[in-house]
Amino acid sequence: MIGKKIYSLFRDFNHLIFPEKCLHCEGELIENENHVCDFCRSDISYTFFENLNGPNEMDKLFWGRIPVESSYALMYFKEKTVSQTMLHALKYQNNYKIGVYLGEIIGSNMEKSNRFATIDALIPVPIHPKKKFTRGYNQAEILSHGIANRIKTPVLTKLTIKTKHTESQTRKSMAERWMNSSQIFQAEKSVESYKHIAIVDDVLTTGATLEHLTKAILEQNKDIKISLITLALTK
Ligand SMILES: [Zn+2]
Repeated sequence: MIGKKIYSLFRDFNHLIFPEKCLHCEGELIENENHVCDFCRSDISYTFFENLNGPNEMDKLFWGRIPVESSYALMYFKEKTVSQTMLHALKYQNNYKIGVYLGEIIGSNMEKSNRFATIDALIPVPIHPKKKFTRGYNQAEILSHGIANRIKTPVLTKLTIKTKHTESQTRKSMAERWMNSSQIFQAEKSVESYKHIAIVDDVLTTGATLEHLTKAILEQNKDIKISLITLALTK
């Protein structure tokens, strides 16, 4: 109890000397502003997919490629905007808090739509153990924990593994990369015990990562329903 009081005193004192700053414009944050100021926040292009009943553009991106139950992205990614700043903070600056915070927003929005009601587990896109060791964390896992705080589903981090280190792939041609990437991921046999899982990633560009992870999971359980969730979507 006393420890908690001291901690909160310390936190208030700390805030006086080092006021929290907006990640994007570095202006001082006022009460109720989280991570970015309201001005910068108003610059975010949200997808508002949660308000759509029919298929959204992310669903359509995978048509003819893989069977997707439902897909969701919170915002559009644009270079040199607040979306880039937030993604960068999550991916490279060890900003665990913003990942959980954004994950919770995604989770709240998913709750508004009945397209995600039957999800029984979240699977963050795995990163290669080598990368996790150097970076110290997996950003998709952090987002997943934020989502799970809202939709109350387990986050499964050991169900899929990344077997190839992506860096070694970048030197190959696009076509070759495409053909080989189905061997990048592997799913555990225990994926059989789930009916509807959602794969979580930070940003979607071509969709290749999500496509190949989906295929790896379907190899172990062809009847499973798979939904795709990302923080941002590149236009
Ligand atoms: Zn700002």
